[in-house]
Amino acid sequence: MDNEGFRIPRRFLPRDAVEDELERLDQSIASATAEIERNRDRVAEQLGDQYGAIFAAHVSMLNDPGLRATLEEMIRLRHYSPEYSVSRVLRNYAKVFQSLEGPMPERANDIFDIEKRLLRHLLGRRREELGNIVSEVLVLAHNLTPSETSNLNPKFVRGFVTETGGPGSHTAIVAEALGIPAVVGIGPFLAEVSGGETVIIDGDQGLVILHPDEETIARYRYEVDQQRSQARKLEAFRDLPAETLDGVRIQLLGNIEFPYEVEQCKERGSDGIGLYRTEFLFLAGAEQPSEEEQFAAYSEVARAMGDQPVVMRTVDLGADKIPNLPAPEDEPNPFLGLRSIRLALKHRGLFRTQLRAMLRASVAGNIRMMFPLICTLMELRAAKSVLQDAKEDLDEEGVKFDRNMKVGMMVEVPSAVLMMDHFAHEVDFFSIGTNDLVQYALAVDRSNKDVAGLYTASDPSVLRLINMAVKIAHEHDVPIGMCGQMCGNPLYTMFLLGLGLRSLSVTPAAIPEIKRVCRSVELPQCEKVAKRALRFDNAHHVRTYLKEELSKVVPNIRI
Ligand code: PEP
Ligand code: MG
Repeated sequence: MDNEGFRIPRRFLPRDAVEDELERLDQSIASATAEIERNRDRVAEQLGDQYGAIFAAHVSMLNDPGLRATLEEMIRLRHYSPEYSVSRVLRNYAKVFQSLEGPMPERANDIFDIEKRLLRHLLGRRREELGNIVSEVLVLAHNLTPSETSNLNPKFVRGFVTETGGPGSHTAIVAEALGIPAVVGIGPFLAEVSGGETVIIDGDQGLVILHPDEETIARYRYEVDQQRSQARKLEAFRDLPAETLDGVRIQLLGNIEFPYEVEQCKERGSDGIGLYRTEFLFLAGAEQPSEEEQFAAYSEVARAMGDQPVVMRTVDLGADKIPNLPAPEDEPNPFLGLRSIRLALKHRGLFRTQLRAMLRASVAGNIRMMFPLICTLMELRAAKSVLQDAKEDLDEEGVKFDRNMKVGMMVEVPSAVLMMDHFAHEVDFFSIGTNDLVQYALAVDRSNKDVAGLYTASDPSVLRLINMAVKIAHEHDVPIGMCGQMCGNPLYTMFLLGLGLRSLSVTPAAIPEIKRVCRSVELPQCEKVAKRALRFDNAHHVRTYLKEELSKVVPNIRI
């Protein structure tokens, strides 16, 4: 897809369609030319003929007989679709300009402009509905939002790559949930590739290989086989508890975005759901889900898990998860703006409806409620007061709910860590969200590729914040766990157990691996590792050290 979302199919044409397709191509060239000429006239009228002349170059490129002949040859002799032919030929032209010295590479933008114009006329203005893809593809796009990603069907979309975004973004998290190999935020590359070409996406290493040779393809086929057999070996851990060698039981939970992931958690032997990101229900359709729809989804998850705990997080919308709500007028820093609990408190009706649905579902299983992105005590109290109102309403209506439902908060901003002794008096549990904690501790946008190198949970400041949080929670006897991506990475398991964490909630696919690490370590050894890791002064040394220690207990582990 180009950066306006047009999909460019290679599609082979039947022989008898060639004349019609050539006709379609000519019409698009004519319409695109007319469009440019209209622009030329408007500009010439307002600014003078010399400015209008800028467009003349575009008109003559579009109508270049050499270009037309090359396109015709691709359509007539190779039976490619006009869209693919236009994209392929013009991108090759652009590459020639890009390879020149001096100011010439900028002229490539003119060629891309012509390509886009032609594609718009060939394909219509509609952005491709990604949910409608019904044949196996790799999606190569400028950007995908988390909700677009959640609409991808893993049966057909076998991998995706985006130019923008970061590894901590929800687009990446959803890809993991769907089990789609992905590389997010790789930088500009779309000009190098057209539809129908062979591409390898290596999500583990963040690599995209365009036009791979036979040897590379064979190497990756082998790698895929290896991963499959590794996954089969890990299945053996399914029915074993996450227990350390010295007999300490670790609670290993799953993170889910969609109710159907419950099965994946169960298949992998989880102890429950440690984070249900309910906002994905709000991102799926054009309408907000009704109380009944939410009630049905929450009850389904709770029922499926039986006695096992299900931590339902209240809506965490905003920033990169754009809801169908009136947008804030001017939000230049969305991650510092009206997101998460702030947005919920602003849209009380929506929030209250969700709390009612969760309360009603609480009779179906073992539900706990959790508020996201709490930064101040007043916010927590405001959220709890909406909850109290919802409970009173249900009482008045005679509707049953679990009166003892535990209510907790996420610890994902430094202010929450610093004030935890106060929060400890007002919540039943804490859950550390490292995805946001990393971004707010280091002032690094989790979805910005240009600062992705700074976005790491290995930073000593992050390790210290987590250590502080665990200590304060323990001092006040309030249960604390972690649900950020950090704890799904085996690199950190020893460190986290060593700090005293006993509850980890990870993406379902990571459960067997983390279980394996838990079953390979002893706590005193982890405590030593944690103590030492806290003394390093940079992320690189932390990582190297943790890698070394991990490979001592689980040799050959892939990180
Ligand atoms: C987190 O911030 O660590 C977290 C678990 O929440 P999310 O990734 O949905 O922001
Ligand atoms: Mg978060």
